[in-house]
Amino acid sequence: MAIPNITIDGSDLISMVALQTKLRYWVLEKVMKEKKVSLTKQGKAAAKAGADAAKAYVLEVSKILGTILGTETGAIILSAISASGKKLVIRPYLELDANAWAWAEDFEFAVQKGHPLFIRDDIKATTFIDERLIPGTLADGWGASLADYVGTGEGSDSVLEFTPPIPGLGSSIPQSVSAKSSSLPGQMVDQILFHELTHVYRQTTGQQTRVPLVGYAQKYENTEEFFSILVSNIYISETGGTLLRADHGTGVLRPELTKPGAFFGDSPEGRSNRAALALTRIEPGIFRKLARVRSAPFNPLRDLMIESKIKDAMKTAKSFLVGSTYVRTYRP
Ligand SMILES: [Zn+2]
Repeated sequence: MAIPNITIDGSDLISMVALQTKLRYWVLEKVMKEKKVSLTKQGKAAAKAGADAAKAYVLEVSKILGTILGTETGAIILSAISASGKKLVIRPYLELDANAWAWAEDFEFAVQKGHPLFIRDDIKATTFIDERLIPGTLADGWGASLADYVGTGEGSDSVLEFTPPIPGLGSSIPQSVSAKSSSLPGQMVDQILFHELTHVYRQTTGQQTRVPLVGYAQKYENTEEFFSILVSNIYISETGGTLLRADHGTGVLRPELTKPGAFFGDSPEGRSNRAALALTRIEPGIFRKLARVRSAPFNPLRDLMIESKIKDAMKTAKSFLVGSTYVRTYRP
């Protein structure tokens, strides 16, 4: 299964698995006092193990991409990445914390035009504006240039690091998914890759905002995670899952918020979610496509479309933003 612009590259596994193979011989010979295998044979076996691991990685990731592409939500996100014309390389995540992540090669290209991007998470906002931009508030003391980058909106190439379980390798390499993961929301292997692909979509199409969130939405941390978790929940729902994410951790979305109309409803949490949505500035074309995913029982974007609440959502968000430096400078 191949998608234009997407390369799956398992080559980082070659040297790692080859080294592990050599170590295994060393342990066998020194500790177990097994018969020695010639260094040439060891080298050949190690090289083969490394090459096989890289091949198996490509195959496993292809399979998961195939699963994602077979869903409506997945096809929408993958087509948009493909249509961006930007390149995506998927390669193993080899840090020991067994996570997954996606980043833009050129930060300023990944961000919406004229919009600031903050890499740092060390200053938290307390209102629905980015206080780091306002003189005399949190921004004070952190110097004139708190915005690390200002976006061009051109879209950037991306790198996604993710390691699925690979048959034959067991736990000898870090994996982006653990055995207990399936009992946590959004932690199935395809769900993890899908979540990262939604970040890639925002990066390759120059849509990133990454505004810190507050109130009920603070648990999503920022607008990029809010977007990814929202769209991933639609994906999970479409694929028959009922365990939806409530935050950027392992929280489960409360059942009352999964009912039609509730997620962006008139409760304090619903209004908070609407403000977060407005700050996220979802591109209208993808918004409409995602809202049309009927096979997902949980689809708050469809609810908004049906109830024509999009304008309301924007109004709610504006009431949080009126008069702020943020609005005057960046017109979100
Ligand atoms: Zn994320």
